[in-house]
Amino acid sequence: MTFTDFNLHPLVLDGISAMGYSKATPIQEQSIPIILEGKDLIACAQTGTGKTAAYLLPTMHQILSSKSRHLNALILAPTRELAQQIDQQAEGLSYFAGISSIPVYGGGDGFAWEQQKKAMEQGADIIIATPGRLLSQLQSKKVNIDHLQHLILDEADRMLDMGFYDDIVRIISYLPKKRQTLMFSATMPPKIRSLAKQILHHPVEINLALSKPAAGVNQIAYNTFDNQKLPLLKHILADAQFSSVIIFASTKDHVKQLDRELQKLPLGVKAFHSDLEQDTREEIMRDFKNRKLNVLIGTDVLSRGIDIEGISLVVNYDVPPDAEDYIHRIGRTARAATTGTAITFINEKDQFRFGKIEQLIDRVLPKTALPESMGEAPVYEPQKKRETHFKKNFSNKKR
Ligand code: AMP
Repeated sequence: MTFTDFNLHPLVLDGISAMGYSKATPIQEQSIPIILEGKDLIACAQTGTGKTAAYLLPTMHQILSSKSRHLNALILAPTRELAQQIDQQAEGLSYFAGISSIPVYGGGDGFAWEQQKKAMEQGADIIIATPGRLLSQLQSKKVNIDHLQHLILDEADRMLDMGFYDDIVRIISYLPKKRQTLMFSATMPPKIRSLAKQILHHPVEINLALSKPAAGVNQIAYNTFDNQKLPLLKHILADAQFSSVIIFASTKDHVKQLDRELQKLPLGVKAFHSDLEQDTREEIMRDFKNRKLNVLIGTDVLSRGIDIEGISLVVNYDVPPDAEDYIHRIGRTARAATTGTAITFINEKDQFRFGKIEQLIDRVLPKTALPESMGEAPVYEPQKKRETHFKKNFSNKKR
């Protein structure tokens, strides 16, 4: 689909050509018509999908045909880096349309504060702001935001993770009730849905590009202490129904260690890692495909791309560092509509990470009890870990 199909203002089309975009991305194809109709929208889309232009283009079109050009649109973003990126795209796209934008974020000196205040008082068309700094500006009472027509929340899930919920609600109390509201989020956990319920009016929902594990994967998770992992793995491998198994560990050293331990079992086991020569790697893959080997142990090198039919079990001996990697790893089983099992061991340190995975897959997995002989498992408290993590990393970024 090309951009001329949307009936956008000719000056906006000029900006699109100047940026070198020729075809609309899927998120743009779906959201632009809805936004142009003036409807509220909740869209699940990740960075890299073209989501910024998906809301900027129709909003710019609407600004050009609006009588009120004074602080017409507000875009809220979690970080100054994202606010800057959005501002750069807005500048590029509006080069011919003459639409003005101002980024409002914390961190700068008193001069930056004054500059942002002045631009807001004079009334740029679009404000792109982090919530904390914008709220401080609004509380100074010099800025009149009564004519605002469009509110856009970008990376809404990240804003909530960073503790901006109260700030967002307070900012909205300054805005006119009659407005168009758009919410973009990479994930749709329940707290995002409840925020959407509060601030959107009969929104249209678009769900795009969010990776989901194949439906045929039976996902199992255990809470474990580190010293329980190996006995648990051996217990699982003793189950004869798993004929073809991949075990993912976080580091090459873990892979080698596990290899030494599992060689003691009556199974064909091989480790697969980057220290091996290409020929050896290929031979191992061939043997695994031909079922000469039952168990392959590897790092994430194994998780992308290999397409072997009929893997019955994937074990995450360690929780993957990146939530998307979880999807790639467990995608090694249940390929092409078959069924398979994915088992994850979660130690206390990895609970926060696993919480992130559960957010991504939009599902909290039940945690299976350990066999009685292995003793008590740790309590699952991903939130607790998360709070300490965020306190350390984000407390200074809020304003
Ligand atoms: P975003 O997902 O908004 O962060 O966009 C990712 C990148 O894609 C940005 O560098 C945009 O400039 C670029 N982009 C957005 N829309 C298009 C398009 N229709 N064609 C080509 N590139 C695009």
